[in-house]
Amino acid sequence: MIIQKKSNTIVWKDIFTCVELPAPLKRAEELAYNLWWTWNPAATNLFERMDPDLWFETDGNPVKLLRSLSLNRIDALLRDAAWMQNLDEVYMAWQAYMSAPTDSSRPSVAYFSMEYGLSHVLKIYSGGLGVLAGDYLKEASDSNVPLTAVGFLYRYGYFDQRISVDGQQLATYEAQDFNLLPIQAVTDEGGHPLVFEVPFSDRTVYCHVWRVQVGRISLYLMDTDLEKNNLSDRQITHNLYGGNWENRMKQEYLLGIGGILLLQHLGISKEIYHMNEGHAALISAQRLADYVEQKGLPFDVALEVVRSSSLYTVHTPVPAGHDYFDEELLGRYMGHFPHRLGISWQEFIDMGRTTPGSSEKFSMSVFALNTCQEANGVSYLHGVVSRSMFAPVWPGFFAEELHVGHVTNGVHLPTWASPESQAFYKKHLGTDYVSRQADESTWAAIEHIPSDEIWQLRSQLKENLLHYITHDYRKRWLRANDGSANLPEGLDCIGLNTLLIGFARRFATYKRAHLLFTDLDRLSRLVNHPDRPVRFLFAGKAHPADGGGQGLIKHITEISRRPEFEGKIIFLENYDMHLASKLIAGVDVWLNTPTRPLEASGTSGEKAEMNGVLNFSVLDGWWYEGYRPNAGWALTDKTTYRDQQMQDRLDAHTIYDMLEREIIPLYYDKEGKSYSEGWIHHIRNSMMYIAPHFTMRRMMDDYYDHFYKPLSQRQQAVSASSYAMASEIVEWKKQTAAHWDEMQILRVNASGFELRTTNTDVIQSLEVEIDRGGLTAGLKVELIVASDDNQGGLTLAQSIPLELVEQSADSRWQKYHVDCRLKNPGIHRVAIRVTPHSALLPHQMDFAYVRWAAL
Ligand SMILES: *Cc1c(COP(=O)(O)O)cnc(C)c1O
Repeated sequence: MIIQKKSNTIVWKDIFTCVELPAPLKRAEELAYNLWWTWNPAATNLFERMDPDLWFETDGNPVKLLRSLSLNRIDALLRDAAWMQNLDEVYMAWQAYMSAPTDSSRPSVAYFSMEYGLSHVLKIYSGGLGVLAGDYLKEASDSNVPLTAVGFLYRYGYFDQRISVDGQQLATYEAQDFNLLPIQAVTDEGGHPLVFEVPFSDRTVYCHVWRVQVGRISLYLMDTDLEKNNLSDRQITHNLYGGNWENRMKQEYLLGIGGILLLQHLGISKEIYHMNEGHAALISAQRLADYVEQKGLPFDVALEVVRSSSLYTVHTPVPAGHDYFDEELLGRYMGHFPHRLGISWQEFIDMGRTTPGSSEKFSMSVFALNTCQEANGVSYLHGVVSRSMFAPVWPGFFAEELHVGHVTNGVHLPTWASPESQAFYKKHLGTDYVSRQADESTWAAIEHIPSDEIWQLRSQLKENLLHYITHDYRKRWLRANDGSANLPEGLDCIGLNTLLIGFARRFATYKRAHLLFTDLDRLSRLVNHPDRPVRFLFAGKAHPADGGGQGLIKHITEISRRPEFEGKIIFLENYDMHLASKLIAGVDVWLNTPTRPLEASGTSGEKAEMNGVLNFSVLDGWWYEGYRPNAGWALTDKTTYRDQQMQDRLDAHTIYDMLEREIIPLYYDKEGKSYSEGWIHHIRNSMMYIAPHFTMRRMMDDYYDHFYKPLSQRQQAVSASSYAMASEIVEWKKQTAAHWDEMQILRVNASGFELRTTNTDVIQSLEVEIDRGGLTAGLKVELIVASDDNQGGLTLAQSIPLELVEQSADSRWQKYHVDCRLKNPGIHRVAIRVTPHSALLPHQMDFAYVRWAAL
């Protein structure tokens, strides 16, 4: 025998074993399928303790963890009395939470968003917009309000990020196995996964529907990745913000039209319909069609009803950030709608145009504005910016007169306050502090907490971050990078007593991540200072189509690899909610340097606030409202240069200055102690006076007070008695529109306006005679005083109403009068503005007819 071996080819049979959890562990499974665990540290901790290594391997996804437990491990858990008891406690706490009745005194809301950031394991978010929506659902649950949400389940989610040796961002999209996510398929009567049909103009698109339980709130996600669909329809929900314009059109059609039909199919109807960004604007189209086709309302009446119950939240501060669709593309998807609505195609597409009748593309935002009674930006400043941005939609009015309001974004406290911070607040603010989080008085007790204890908390959180980086992050990094030799140096060289500054967010160019790198010598002196060194952690993804953002990442990683910066400026890969939660709690200072006024709100700095991390930021977005002296640092909100590069250089200079002169000295001013008393003073102030105002509880209450409650009343009034008021409004609008052009301004008599004197006795007097023709609407006649806004436009200085002083018996002829005094000296531009007025209208923009006359 020479060859002493023999084997035939192996034929493997693949079998899949799935461990059926024993009854006592079923409770853990129930817990896993409700995202309540994401904001309850005791629950997360319970899962982690089931098998810490497996918890790491399964990326902190309890559903995956439970599926992967070995029989041995299960046996061990069943015999682990302490763990079993803990399971009971957590389960009971959850049951108690779930059993509270819904607060039905508050109006019910249907909420639509393209993305939701609920947990890093559910990759259906890309950044701040999504995290905000996720936090909103969690707070809706905690506040126990009747809210239901709709979105998409993306097969490939948002991408995972790695950075190549030469600083390139590598984006990988991994298909998600939906069976391993904390979501459940919605089933039909037969118990099979529901195949929901969404009618497109020439075909049906089929969806699976998944329910995510967020505490007491249900989020329904549509997913078109079904074999029944053609290839291109399967891809509708493959990627978040991926694909071409046609795919975006399909997504927005599906979210809007499909979303409304889905809620109907599930038997869910709500009072208020809330669009989180213009992506969801087409919900109005479907709701209009329903009122017309099912309730038999004329289009105009339907429009009144839909508007009275709709809110549009804009998150984008520049026109270029909105979605526009060209007529041909829009026609292919929405072409059949005008017929259903009983209007013409021209009328339909004009609802999405700033200037009706023009050849503009169809803007989802303008369509949203025209079909929602209310609209809002996401911070005070963004409200101002939004009014300017949308001013062209209502010619004849000044930006500052528009009804577009604001609600400043907030963050969900139990999600973003680290477990240690939560324990700290429980101890010092009372065990029920969560329910009182939005009251400043709740936080007053911080004043008396000994500095030692505050410093202990801060040190613990920093240690957690450093531990995370040197252990979990390193392991993850090695796993993702196949052990190649490129791990950032110095991960373990950051000392607990070194000032640590964090900067992490989407790498959009307006966020100016490069600002810090404007003067490398100066930066090198900062990080290499012998006694008072500073360390920087950076993280963030750039959208794969954003070359500029990717360039920034490359630039920063290249610099961070130079010898003088190695280990001192570190770029951490794959920024997601998990990494965010470590960073925003563990650094000392959270840095943000957006170009004013492009940061609509920003929320990561608010998350930092919840953990005693101090903000150093441009006075933009939320920080414009949040900043207090001695509670963090601000770069002024004044724009000095029109030229952005000059402004960037000036801002960079200011950042270095403030670091060198204020922030670093304060941090290291320890006077023999282990910490700086001055630093703790800043932390105290920021916890007491800033944190309470930027919680998601405050934000949700604001939405209710400013929008949902008034809309609910309005919606009821408009719909009562078979939509009587809606019909009345429509009649009024029709009459006014039909006779508006008959109205004539017969005579204007003005005195005192020609003078250039400063004599304070001079009174301006104005008389206007009007022939209303067939118009029956009441008129509002104003003297408008405008002044130069220094940017080539005008602002409203004063609007002075004229009084009706005389009229003919049939009130067709009317005389208006006012005596007034212009408030400020200087150059004024004055004109007369006549608008129709009715107490039935919620605000003037609702029917924006304007007639100007010269003095
Ligand atoms: C909070 C958060 C954001 C938003 O941060 P901004 O500072 O508002 O840009 C983005 N990404 C992740 C992962 C977050 O957790």
